[in-house]
Amino acid sequence: MKICMACGMPLNNSDDIGIENETGLFCKHCINEDKSVKGCQEIFDGGVQFFMEAVPNTDKELSERITRKNMNALAYWQGKDPSTNAQDECLKGDQASDEEFQVVLTKLASK
Ligand SMILES: [Zn+2]
Repeated sequence: MKICMACGMPLNNSDDIGIENETGLFCKHCINEDKSVKGCQEIFDGGVQFFMEAVPNTDKELSERITRKNMNALAYWQGKDPSTNAQDECLKGDQASDEEFQVVLTKLASK
């Protein structure tokens, strides 16, 4: 399955694909108008917004932890030197538990 390198969104339709570069595929939500990949904070904020809207009873605090867990699980955000701006402060901090994450995935899948 093709997924976005930066946010993990499934790319089932070619419409959803923003760019493909040497790193991999990125969805249309994770790129800027000039086709560059958005920064960590912007993608994080988009993720928080997405989970709050897509999953009932998800408050901002939970949504932030879920987004953090989701992004930290992606290879794109791993192994980056935190001292560079590639990985932002937003990925540090509390993450959702496996149980919380699973509940969200189940709710998303049932939509
Ligand atoms: Zn994306």
